[in-house]
Amino acid sequence: MDVPDPAALRRAFINSSRSRTASMSLPTPWPPPRASELDFVGWVDPKAPLRAYLATGSAAGDDLTCVELRLPSASARAKRQTMCDLCQTSDAPDGSLLMVAPRSGARGRSGDTVGLYICSDFGCSLRARRPLKEHERSVTGAPDTRVEALRERVEAFVARVRG
Ligand SMILES: [Zn+2]
Repeated sequence: MDVPDPAALRRAFINSSRSRTASMSLPTPWPPPRASELDFVGWVDPKAPLRAYLATGSAAGDDLTCVELRLPSASARAKRQTMCDLCQTSDAPDGSLLMVAPRSGARGRSGDTVGLYICSDFGCSLRARRPLKEHERSVTGAPDTRVEALRERVEAFVARVRG
């Protein structure tokens, strides 16, 4: 994705109030390394460790979308490794976390949420591009569709948050 400036990001939130998006903090450095290779950018708020964000689309393409996520408290984090719902690996060094997004609008304000397990380091785009190991390759020669599948899952998640 092309990484937008902070003002464009704040305007692109679909499930957060103006006052909350105003208090969003970006990670340093911004943009993150290798951002142009990513299908989405995700980060934990450097000043609020239980808040995270996922941005996808492009400011230039007019489909930039940001979703605010809530992270579980440290004591509520599962001890076992859970597969990420986006890249469908368990490869993140600290595993994946159940991240919960309030839905857009009135439904979200009344407590309706969408939850997904997502790699705790948001490294799904790079994992979907990791070369396949020998035993992972298709014996029938079927193409590797991990990147397309990741993009579809991110889009589906955003669509569910929009409701
Ligand atoms: Zn992942």
